[in-house]
Amino acid sequence: MKSEVVGEGIVRLTTNKTGPTIGVVCNVHGNELCGRKAVHRILAKYEIECGTLVLIDGNPNAALLGKRYVASDMNRMFTTDQLAQENPEQDLKRAHYLAKELPKLGLDQVIDFHSTTSETPYPFTVSFPGTEEMTSLCPVPQIFGWTGIVIGSLIEWLCKQNIPAVVVEAGQHEAESSIDVAEQTLLSILSHFGLITPEEPITFEKPAQYKVLERVMIGDHASFKFEKEYSSFEALEPGELIAKDKTGDYVAPQQEGLMMIMPSTQEHVEKRISRGAYYLMQRL
Ligand SMILES: [Zn+2]
Repeated sequence: MKSEVVGEGIVRLTTNKTGPTIGVVCNVHGNELCGRKAVHRILAKYEIECGTLVLIDGNPNAALLGKRYVASDMNRMFTTDQLAQENPEQDLKRAHYLAKELPKLGLDQVIDFHSTTSETPYPFTVSFPGTEEMTSLCPVPQIFGWTGIVIGSLIEWLCKQNIPAVVVEAGQHEAESSIDVAEQTLLSILSHFGLITPEEPITFEKPAQYKVLERVMIGDHASFKFEKEYSSFEALEPGELIAKDKTGDYVAPQQEGLMMIMPSTQEHVEKRISRGAYYLMQRL
């Protein structure tokens, strides 16, 4: 196994045996370190036996600060307009770099690890069309339907370049279990593609599948107030009042079986960290 630096914050591990090239993206948000820690655990235990593993430090400057981003959220910058801007600075400069370099790496599949601000009872995938194989390898609830929901994410952009890429939201930022989830996911993916041979075969029950329907944006941050603290996977009553602000009420649609996913917190609303209030989804 040979390690070589092939770009800024990009290290490639190669072997003499042919096999797929798997990209692992960590800390696109600089305070979300579970993927990086899981990679360290795997590399401490296993040699890569075939194929190529590419480790990609998403936003290294944000990771140095332990913050989501340096100046602005890089994971909203992978749009045609922003990637065409001249003289990019700060996080956009890194987005330009990744957009230029990642397609050159021959990546067959990509996994991108994230974690969430609020507690979540379950980790989950963010899955786009064309990522069914990768998604099936993730031992967590699988959420489809994200096309066009979050504008400018790295993985949606990679999928558009025909590089299947899946996000695993592994749990809360600080939770040790988030690292365990990222490690199990990596073991599952790397063993499936033959890059490693795990001590025990990786098996898990087929996780539940969901479809995200809508991202609900915040109309007015100053007056926005949740009716209560919500958590991901929380069931919503048809017509339930979720929040209010001076632009109006935020009410669950008159539909059975809807759930909340990734609600913002009141603190994040007040600090204007989130532009979105929450996402709605349903079980498939
Ligand atoms: Zn993230």
